[in-house]
Amino acid sequence: MTRTVIRTCPLCEATCGLRIELDDADQVASVRGDTEDVFSGGYLCPKGATLGELEADPDRLTAPRVRRDGQLVEAGWQEAFEEVASRLQAIQAEHGPDAVAVYLGNPNVHNLAGQLYVRPLLKALRTTNLYSASSVDQLPKHISSGYLFGAPWAIPVPDLDRTDLLVVLGANPRVSNGSLMTAPDLPGRLTALRRRGGRLVVVDPARTRTAERADLHLAVRPGTDALLLFAVVHTLAEEGLIDVGDHLRDHVQGVDEVVALAAPFAPERVAPACGIEAGAIRSLARELAEAERAVVYGRLGTTTVAFGTTTSWLVDVVNVLTGNLDRPGGAMFPLPAHHRAPRRPFRHARRHSRVRGLPEAIGEFPVATLTDEIVTPGQGQVRALITIAGNPVVSTPDAARLGAAIAGLDLVVAVDPYVTATSRHADVVLPPPRILQRSHYDLAFSGLAIRNVANHSPAAVPLDEGQPDEWEILLTLAAIALGQSPPIDVDAADAFVLHQALESVVADPSARLATRDVDELRTHLADRRGPERLLDLLLRAGPYGDGFGTHEGGLSLAELEAHPHGIDLGPLRPQVPEVVTTDSGRIELAPEPLVADVARLERHLDDTVGDGLVLIGRRHLRTNNSWSHNVAGLAKGQQLCTLQIHPDDAAERGLTDGTEVVVRSTVGQVTVPVEVTDALRRGVVSLPHGFGHDLDGVELTVARRAGGANSNLLADRQLVDPVSGNAVLNGLPVEVVPA
Ligand code: SF4
Repeated sequence: MTRTVIRTCPLCEATCGLRIELDDADQVASVRGDTEDVFSGGYLCPKGATLGELEADPDRLTAPRVRRDGQLVEAGWQEAFEEVASRLQAIQAEHGPDAVAVYLGNPNVHNLAGQLYVRPLLKALRTTNLYSASSVDQLPKHISSGYLFGAPWAIPVPDLDRTDLLVVLGANPRVSNGSLMTAPDLPGRLTALRRRGGRLVVVDPARTRTAERADLHLAVRPGTDALLLFAVVHTLAEEGLIDVGDHLRDHVQGVDEVVALAAPFAPERVAPACGIEAGAIRSLARELAEAERAVVYGRLGTTTVAFGTTTSWLVDVVNVLTGNLDRPGGAMFPLPAHHRAPRRPFRHARRHSRVRGLPEAIGEFPVATLTDEIVTPGQGQVRALITIAGNPVVSTPDAARLGAAIAGLDLVVAVDPYVTATSRHADVVLPPPRILQRSHYDLAFSGLAIRNVANHSPAAVPLDEGQPDEWEILLTLAAIALGQSPPIDVDAADAFVLHQALESVVADPSARLATRDVDELRTHLADRRGPERLLDLLLRAGPYGDGFGTHEGGLSLAELEAHPHGIDLGPLRPQVPEVVTTDSGRIELAPEPLVADVARLERHLDDTVGDGLVLIGRRHLRTNNSWSHNVAGLAKGQQLCTLQIHPDDAAERGLTDGTEVVVRSTVGQVTVPVEVTDALRRGVVSLPHGFGHDLDGVELTVARRAGGANSNLLADRQLVDPVSGNAVLNGLPVEVVPA
C-alpha cells in the first residue's frame, strides 16, 4: 500500500508543490509535481524529482557524531549534547561570548525550524560573531533596500506574470529557478511573457539558457552593471524620460541628486568599460521608459561583485525613475500571510569587525573575514564555531585558509546531516531529521513571491526513535549557551520563545493582535507546540489572519491545513507608502552612504581593460550551491564542473575541449577540464560553485566520485564590496594554463 502526501519542495526558492507517493516503509516511491498546487500548477524540476534519492541517501547521518581519539564516532544524543555543553560553556566562561562564532548556511531559509529557532539560539549565545551565506550572495540587496525603503527585507520583485518587458542582469532564472523572485515554473512564465508579446532582455557576460531564449542579449563585461545602469539613468535624464508616476510622486525623494550623480556616466563614456555599445545602452533606457509595464531585475552577477551594493541600488533606481516601482507589471512588494517582525529603523555598520573593520549588516559580519577573526589573536578572537546547515569551506572565499583555520579551533559544532568539507572538522555533529520528517512553511520565500500565496506542509513521516526535531536541537543548544546542562526541558524553553513572540506581536500596532492579552492568546495556542504553534500565531496576527476571532474567514494554520494545495491570496498589490519605513517616510533614492561610494565607481571608469581572463560563476539546474551533490540521479554521471572558455581564448592557449587546465588566482589554484564554448564573451571564463567534496574525511560518496573543484579556492577573501563587505566572486582575475 502506498500513500500520497502533498508537500512544498524545500530545495530551492521556487516552492513547487509536490505529490509524493510513500511506500509501506515510508520510503519515497515517486515524486510528481502537484497539479493542484495554487502556485506551481504541477511544475517539477530534476532536483524535486530526485527528492526520494536524497531522503534515502545512505551517507546521511542518523545519529550524532562525537570526536574521540581524532575520529568522528557515533554517539547518543545525550552524550553529544553533554560534549557540547562542557566545552562550549568553558570557552564562553574563559573568553566571553564573542569567542563563539556562528555560520548559517543557505538551507536555513528553506526550513521552518531554522527560520524560527536560530534566533533564540543567537540571543542565548550573545555573540556578535555571526556570519552567513548572505555575504557571499544577496547581502548588498538587503543593504540597498534598507537605505531606499527602510527595511532590508523590503525587496521588490518582478511582477513577472503582468510585465511587458523584463530586463535581467546577472541572473539565469531558467536554470536557477529564480532567486529573490519566488516563481515556480520560471521557464514557463518566461515563455508566457514572450507569447503575450512581451520582451526579455538579458545582460550577462555569458549567453546563458535564459539569454538563449531572450529577445536581446547584451554580453556585458563582468562587474560593470553599475556603470551600465548609471548610463541608463544618464540617458533617461538627458532625454527627458524620467517619470516616477503619479502613484510615487509624493513618496520619493532624491531624484535630482541621483540624476546629478549619473552625469559622469554617459553611455559613450561607459561603453568601453562595459563592452556594450553606447547606442545599445541608450536603446535599453528608451525601451524601459516607453514600455507600458517594465521591470529590471538583478541577481548574483550584480551582488557578488566589487560594486554589489551600488548595482543593487541602481536596479531599484531605474525601476523608480521609469515609473515601474510598485505598480502592476513592474517591481512590486509581496505581502505574505504571516506577521513579520515590527520594522525597526534600518541601521547599518553599527559595529565593525575586529580585524579588518568590515561593517556589520543585518546583524552579521561578512564571512570574507571569518578566517581573520579565527587566526588573529587578541580579545574577541573566535575560538569556537557553530555551523547550522552550512559548509563555508566550500561556499566562502579563500576556502583553503578558512578550512585550515577551522581545523585549528578549540570547538566546532555542526548541525548538519552530512560529514562535509566543513563538518569533518567538527567535534560534534548533530544531524537534523530528514525533509519529510519536518513540517514546512516558507517564511522567507513567501516574502519574495511574485504572487501572494500560503502553503503549509505537515511532517509526512514520523521521527526516528530518539531523534529530536530540528527545533528541539536548536533550543537545546540555546539552553546550553545559557549555561544549562542537558537534558533540557525543551517545552519550557519553547514556552519562553512563545512568550517573547506574543509580546512582540501584541506590541506591534500593524499586527491583527495588537494590544491583545498575551495570556488569552496563549490559551488559544495550547493545542500546538514548536514551529506549528509559532506559525499559527504569525498567521493569525498577519495581514490576512483571523485575529483569533476578530476577522471572520481570516487565515489560521488550521485553515492552511485544510488546503494542502495552498491558498492563493491574489496578485501583488501596491504597497507604498505602507512598506516604506525610512526615517523620512519616503523612498530615499539618494541615500548618503550609497552616494558616497559613487566616486569609487567613477574612478573605476578609468581603469584600463586588461587582456587577462576574469572568472565568473555559473548555475546548473542539477545542483544547488554545495548541498545537492550527493544525489547520483541528479548529475547522471555528467561532468558539470568544467571551465568554460571562449574558442579564441582557448586557441590562444592551445586548449581544446576536455583539456585539463590549472586555473590560478592571487590566492589559490584548481585543476579542471576545459569546455570550449562561444557562449562566453572573450576574456571571461566560467566555473560553477559548490564543488570540491574530495577532501580527507568527507563522507559524500557520490559527490566525491563526481569530482569537481572548489571555485572558492580561487576567491580572494580580501576582495569585497566595501559598502556591504560581500565577497567578490564574479570578475576575479585568473590565469589559465594547461595542467
Ligand atoms: S524548481 Fe525548486 S522548488 Fe521546484 S521542484 Fe525544483 S528544486 Fe523543488
